Amino acid sequence: MFLDVKDLAVRKVHIRKSYAPGSIDYGLSEVKQSEPLEVDATAELLEGHIRVTGELRTRIEMVCARCLEPVIEEVHRDFDLFYQPLFKGTPNDVERLKDDDTEIGFFEGEGLFLADVLKEQVLLSLPMKVICQSDCRGLCPHCGANLNQEQCRCERHTSDPRLAPLARLKQDWLKKQ
Ligand SMILES: [Zn+2]
Ligand SMILES: [Zn+2]
Repeated sequence: MFLDVKDLAVRKVHIRKSYAPGSIDYGLSEVKQSEPLEVDATAELLEGHIRVTGELRTRIEMVCARCLEPVIEEVHRDFDLFYQPLFKGTPNDVERLKDDDTEIGFFEGEGLFLADVLKEQVLLSLPMKVICQSDCRGLCPHCGANLNQEQCRCERHTSDPRLAPLARLKQDWLKKQ
C-alpha cells in the first residue's frame, strides 16, 4: 500500500490491513515473520509532513544466539511517526528538528510505502539477541551438537566460561610463587 501525499492532502486515510508472512522483506535472514502482520493505523498530511499513527501486531521467528533453534518473539508496537519530504537543502531543517524528541523520517517523491514503515517499526521493536531459554546450553564448540538435546563425547576443558578469568588469575598467581 502506497501512502500518496496527493491523496492524503484530500483526506485522512484509515488503514486496517493484514500482511501475510513473506510479503514484507525484512532484509535479514534471521528475522522471519511467522504469522500475518495486523496493522490498524491512520495516515494524514500535517503541514507538509506525512503523519502515521497506529499499532501493529505480529510474531517474528528469530534464532537463539546460543543454540540456533528458532525463537518466537511477540511484537506489539504503538507508533506515532512523522515523515518530511526530502528536498535539497533539507540538512538545516534536520538540525533544527533534531533538537526536539519527535521521531522524524523522510519520504522521497510522491509518498511512502506502508510496508517500509512497518518493516522499520518491527525491526526497532526486536531485541538485538534472543535466547530460547535462560539456561540454554548452546552448541558444542567442537562437534556442533545441540547440548540441550544431547550430550556429545567431546572433552570439555573449561566447563563454565564465566570461571575462565578466575582460572587465569589463579594460574598467574601460581606462576609468581
Ligand atoms: Zn537456545
Ligand atoms: Zn561435542
